[in-house]
Amino acid sequence: MKLYSTRQKAPEASLQQALFAGMPADQGLYMPVAIPRLPVETLNLMEGLAFPEIAFLIAQALIGDSVEDQVLKEITREAFSFPVPLRQIGENEYVLELFHGPSLAFKDFGARFMSRLMGSFPSLDKRELQILVATSGDTGGAVAMGFYGVPGIRVTILYPSGRVSNLQEKQMTTLGGNIRALEVAGSFDDCQGMVKQAFADRSLNQELRLSSANSINIGRLIPQIFYYFYGWACLPARKSALYYSVPSGNFGNLVAGLMAWKMGLPITRLAASTNANDVVPQWLISGEYRPRPSVHTLSTAMDVGNPSNFERIVSLFQGDRELVKSMVSGYSFSDEETRQAIRRVYDRTGYILCPHSAVAWLGLQALTAEKRGGQYAAVLLATAHPGKFPDIYDADMASQIHLPELDFNMQGAQQISVKIAAEYSGLRRILLESSR
Ligand SMILES: *Cc1c(COP(=O)(O)O)cnc(C)c1O
Repeated sequence: MKLYSTRQKAPEASLQQALFAGMPADQGLYMPVAIPRLPVETLNLMEGLAFPEIAFLIAQALIGDSVEDQVLKEITREAFSFPVPLRQIGENEYVLELFHGPSLAFKDFGARFMSRLMGSFPSLDKRELQILVATSGDTGGAVAMGFYGVPGIRVTILYPSGRVSNLQEKQMTTLGGNIRALEVAGSFDDCQGMVKQAFADRSLNQELRLSSANSINIGRLIPQIFYYFYGWACLPARKSALYYSVPSGNFGNLVAGLMAWKMGLPITRLAASTNANDVVPQWLISGEYRPRPSVHTLSTAMDVGNPSNFERIVSLFQGDRELVKSMVSGYSFSDEETRQAIRRVYDRTGYILCPHSAVAWLGLQALTAEKRGGQYAAVLLATAHPGKFPDIYDADMASQIHLPELDFNMQGAQQISVKIAAEYSGLRRILLESSR
């Protein structure tokens, strides 16, 4: 696989280079130069296969020139060792549950695959790889558990003190080992700013081998393509039309859906479903892209005011908004609508959606409003377990939500984090001290 920068001012990169650099030097994002189309025979093969087997077929077509088959088989088997159920909640309506990994959110797909892929490349640089990541909640846990115990890699997570949920904090702070959590006395923006300063710090980068695990990394995006194929392969019968609704914040998930379509998955149309942070739906309507500070909503993981993967969407369609509109419908929903949707789906079917997935359900209704009969399948991506957000449900619903046993015995485990001020100098000192 060869990758180009969406800003086209940096040289092409190999998969290994893109994976370890994270971002090209021109501050664009890496995208594959060519996206292979799977032959119909390969698609036909997928029905009835397990998730890791389908993941392997797609990975082989995409990055098989950069990674040996045997290694890809091992990575897909180990990374996707949890169930991915497709549940029917209406005549044509399905929920693809992407939250059965250890962090109980879909970010496990990206983090678990990427960590193993990184570990599979023999490194010429013998120094430990230092992964730095800022999180507002879900990414921290997925990256912590995804990279836990991977040899030669140390992870440092920065999270805003007092602004992540209990469970999210446990996921980041109880593992220990090669995972270090820094509790920053500041906001998520402060954490992100400190991480960016570290990457821009030349002398630090001479001392340490730094890399990022944010969703700008193509290694987190590739594995998200797999579940679009898997969801389709699990449908009970082939339909004439296939719709996906994607709860979107930074839009990595939507880009993965578009890549699945480019690879030959017969998707009719995708809904880009957002909360009040609607810069992409607005762009689809008006053609003007106006990033702005994010507003706080019920679906917090989608509170993004300047989605970094927007550049990738534009690049996939050569900058032609009309072409984007021929595949993607944009929708935005309020917190009130989201609450009502959770209620309505529960009353009608007994199914409980998390707030992000409820936004996707609303998008799916809008996308299929005109459709009648049984000739289509409409699938919403459920990105987090409702048990991660216990405070938003009433007592009746809350009593119906069952969190699975936690993998790393987090309930009783000791939480270890280092409290630091929201100043770059403190982060720099910690990184340098621990590398000596
Ligand atoms: C990160 C996240 C999203 C948004 O995904 P993007 O790829 O950034 O659009 C949606 N739901 C949940 C639960 C998330 O954690």
